[in-house]
Amino acid sequence: MFVFRVLASGSSGNAFVLRTDTATLLFEAGLRLPRLSKYLASEGIATSDLSAVLVSHEHRDHCVGAEELASEHGTPVIANEQVLRACGLAHLASVDAMPVGQTRRFGDIEVTSFPLEHDAIRHVGFFVRSQGRTLTIATDTGKATGDLRDAVSESDLVVIEANHDLHMLQTGPYPYHLRRRVGGPRGHLSNLQAGGIIVKHVKRPDVRVWLAHLSKENNTPLLALRTVRRVLQAEGMTLNVEVAQRDRPSLRWTGAPRPRQLSLLQHEGSVVA
Ligand SMILES: [Zn+2]
Ligand SMILES: [Zn+2]
Repeated sequence: MFVFRVLASGSSGNAFVLRTDTATLLFEAGLRLPRLSKYLASEGIATSDLSAVLVSHEHRDHCVGAEELASEHGTPVIANEQVLRACGLAHLASVDAMPVGQTRRFGDIEVTSFPLEHDAIRHVGFFVRSQGRTLTIATDTGKATGDLRDAVSESDLVVIEANHDLHMLQTGPYPYHLRRRVGGPRGHLSNLQAGGIIVKHVKRPDVRVWLAHLSKENNTPLLALRTVRRVLQAEGMTLNVEVAQRDRPSLRWTGAPRPRQLSLLQHEGSVVA
């Protein structure tokens, strides 16, 4: 079994779940426990079944439910030390510090965290490998880091932030300082930036892209989709691009593992040889 599902993704709460035969991992605990449990149940998962929850950073939309999960269900909460402290979780019995860049194994799932650029203490994205499939979860970053580019180029599924439309952000309800923060290098990716990262770093036509963490005030699902598709079309790329719902379970992936291919480097090496 392999099922990856978006439970919610947006500025008001994020949670993704990956279930295999040997582990059930929650990525982000950005929903309060009653709603989180309800959404997990819609996928046939009891909250007490969670093997662990991995938290990327201390903003509420990523960690608000972590303490309840730990205290009511004993769920191991995993993040780097600075994030555990910033979330106020370091005192809990079931926390487990995972240094940035480390790979952890949970049953047949391997997770590696990598640094992103955001106005948080030590924010990370996640690169996941399981049963021959690879996926990246990267939200809350003002720009592409080298690690993000590498993760995207290795992934069968790319979950990437398309937070705002630039025009909506500039003309929308946010005050100047907030517009600067959101649109800045330690803020959030715009639709155009997300499209640019996909065009540059996705290497195969069968890669799926899910746009995530859309702003309620400064974006719409249709605008995000159109903008990213336009960027892809301008480069002659056709990919399966979808948009995650902000406030309810939406996209699900059970994708078949791809056959192992020679990497570009190996291929070039063999040509030279
Ligand atoms: Zn966020
Ligand atoms: Zn954030």
